[in-house]
Amino acid sequence: MALIALLPGDGIGPEVVEQAVRVLAAAGAEGLAYEEALVGGAAYKAEGHPLPEKTLDVARRADAILFGAVGDPDCDALERHLRPEQAILGLRRALGLFANLRPAKLFPELADASALRPEVATAIDLVIVRELTGDVYFGQPRGLRKTEAGLREGFDTMRYDEAEIARIARVGFETARARRGKLCSVDKANVLETSQLWRDVVIEVSADYPDVALSHMYVDNAAMQLVRNPGQFDVVVTGNLFGDILSDQASMCAGSIGMLPSASLDSGKKGLYEPIHGSAPDIAGEGKANPLATILSAAMMLRYSLDQAAVADRIEAAVARALANGARSPDLGGGMTTAAMGDAVIAAL
Ligand code: NAD
Repeated sequence: MALIALLPGDGIGPEVVEQAVRVLAAAGAEGLAYEEALVGGAAYKAEGHPLPEKTLDVARRADAILFGAVGDPDCDALERHLRPEQAILGLRRALGLFANLRPAKLFPELADASALRPEVATAIDLVIVRELTGDVYFGQPRGLRKTEAGLREGFDTMRYDEAEIARIARVGFETARARRGKLCSVDKANVLETSQLWRDVVIEVSADYPDVALSHMYVDNAAMQLVRNPGQFDVVVTGNLFGDILSDQASMCAGSIGMLPSASLDSGKKGLYEPIHGSAPDIAGEGKANPLATILSAAMMLRYSLDQAAVADRIEAAVARALANGARSPDLGGGMTTAAMGDAVIAAL
């Protein structure tokens, strides 16, 4: 029996997670037990903290975590450490989730929803593997100070050690190995020492993956190529800062934010699976949320944490078929409710 921690969270989170659980059952996912817990604003309101110990305990015991979204306008005035969004950072830290996988794939039926021309956009089928716990976001020292001339100065430190780079590189190679066998490592090695080390270590690790074709690209060029010819990429591996920006860019190439799943993995098989969107307070409770990103996140959970790749394939194919059959929530230009979108996927199964 695999234990799934269900953390629906705030806003549309519970609405989309409910549909993902229905689809998991209908697809025949085997041996799943669920334990639900509060997170985000919902947890703050009930327990006084966005990530209560009880929730952390369920997440620690679980084999995988299916997460909705956090964020509640009622909580915007709280001190930073009590804000709903802190729950995600807390979970990443507590569970050692250092690898963020974001597939970006455009379903052909949604080509018109992409920011790119349809013939360019339909070629998108890539995964960005982003390091999540290091880089300039966490490097020390950082701060604000006064220069000798009396000017205010802000500074941050970009840093990675070789173990951190090797660990995320391996996730990149493994991901590429399970797909089309191409890995592009993105850095800025022409300017940054951190990036030079990054490139050296990725090349060292590549010796263990002779079956994967490794290439390197500077981040500025990668940003351009993602828009010019995204079909050239299979798996992209990069650091926290570059990955933050490139993964958002790739998501807009793929149409609605309501379509994109993600996984955050530890060094074993455990992961937290969530749609990339937030709690969408503007449409919460109205049945307008697109549940497909969460349904596709559940498929990733089956594939990466639960060894049920065949069921994952079936769910992904059912999403494609539902779209081909005309299933459209409002973000996709249609009028179907969240539950009706879930029904459409289940019918396609
Ligand atoms: P958002 O992703 O919640 O919403 C952006 C826009 O996209 C909104 O117009 C929303 O209606 C729409 N949208 C999002 N998901 C959708 C879906 N599944 N179907 C249809 N439309 C969808 O981003 P935001 O408005 O910047 O943030 C709202 C709250 O969510 C904030 O509190 C923010 O901090 C939080 N947030 C949380 C996460 C997370 O939980 N991982 C991620 C991003 C933002």
